[in-house]
Amino acid sequence: MNTPDIKLTQSRALPSKREVDTLAHWVMLLPVEGWEGLDDALPYGEALKRRYERQPAERRKQRCLAVDLPNPRASHVAFACVTAEIGTFELLTLARQLVAPHVALEASALGVCVCGFEGAAAERMTEALLTAALAASTEMPRFTAKKTMPARLERIEIYGCEATHGFERSYAEAEGNGLARQLTGLPANELTPGHYRRWVAALAKGEGWHLEFLDLKALARRKAGAFLAVAQGSPEPDAGIVHLKYGPPRAARSGGLALCGKGICFDTGGVNLKPANFMLGMHKDMQGSAVALGTLLALTRLKVPFPIECWLALATYHIGPSAYKPNDVVTAMDGTTIEIVNTDAEGRMVLCDTLTLASRAKPTLIIDFATLTGACKRALGNSYSGVFTNRPEYYAKGGLHLAVVYTQQAPSRTSSPSPDPNIL
Ligand SMILES: [Zn+2]
Repeated sequence: MNTPDIKLTQSRALPSKREVDTLAHWVMLLPVEGWEGLDDALPYGEALKRRYERQPAERRKQRCLAVDLPNPRASHVAFACVTAEIGTFELLTLARQLVAPHVALEASALGVCVCGFEGAAAERMTEALLTAALAASTEMPRFTAKKTMPARLERIEIYGCEATHGFERSYAEAEGNGLARQLTGLPANELTPGHYRRWVAALAKGEGWHLEFLDLKALARRKAGAFLAVAQGSPEPDAGIVHLKYGPPRAARSGGLALCGKGICFDTGGVNLKPANFMLGMHKDMQGSAVALGTLLALTRLKVPFPIECWLALATYHIGPSAYKPNDVVTAMDGTTIEIVNTDAEGRMVLCDTLTLASRAKPTLIIDFATLTGACKRALGNSYSGVFTNRPEYYAKGGLHLAVVYTQQAPSRTSSPSPDPNIL
């Protein structure tokens, strides 16, 4: 698996005509109000202005527009006009749309131009376009017989913004984001809990993370009855909880961040079996764990100065003669007794024991990621993630922004609602 290795150049100035002519592929963000005055400062601004004015007035704002420039390369420019107040989700969505045609054309170099915005607003616009370009360049698992790989983006030239941090965070987030998407793209016969654990072990070795794996015997010793109830239907004894530790030098031994994730490599629903169309895609029921792991990778890349523990609850949820049943009563690690009502609510079963383990280390903050309930999808649709917290200050400060962006999914191809929206 590869994360994008793309060279970056930055310039506070707008591109010269010669620089525009050098590249065949451009994405640009311009202000809704008053950008017309920029058409002198921006080479070929007149062509952009004509394209903008051809658009009906009510469909000019936040629309992906395109124009081929009258230069020898016929440089393709995808641009949009936005306000500085545009929401993060809308901005990232627009950035993806602007970048997409260039990726389809296998651009090896992309010009990114932010024109008419200053300071933090210019940086935010640039970050969005860079994030979209890096995400689009991440290699996803391929299973087609066709061996030829599409050409990859190798270079991004930024104009209209120069940041001293060199967009390190965008690159780190792209690595974590790419990792989560790559893992989620693997089918359940390629990513069993055993494969997943070995794969994480190799990653941990490279990143310098301490790794411990709590297998079924270790979990039985800890009386993790809720996790074990989900695992007991599996013919393979490969389920367990991965525990990773990141520790910067001289970090405090307690406190810090705990990341937890639901890693059900395939979810049949158990005895309360899912209907066929709702079982399709259930290899993605591990993406909470992939997001936790991707977040750990991004924070490691950024060399954050606090300790992090990461807990991944890995299991394949099979149905079989030994699978747990409705009305079974099991005892979780913390002594709570649970009567099973719907066996398809296995996520909270594996996570309650995982959260007990995570909380015993007394972290300052626990973030838990899961594809836990279809009711969330019904309430918010397929593009947004629900965030629940007993510490609203973290949400209000945008501290969960990273996590929310990671879990955005592509719109579903089906529009029919789940027969039981409470269960995933
Ligand atoms: Zn389920």
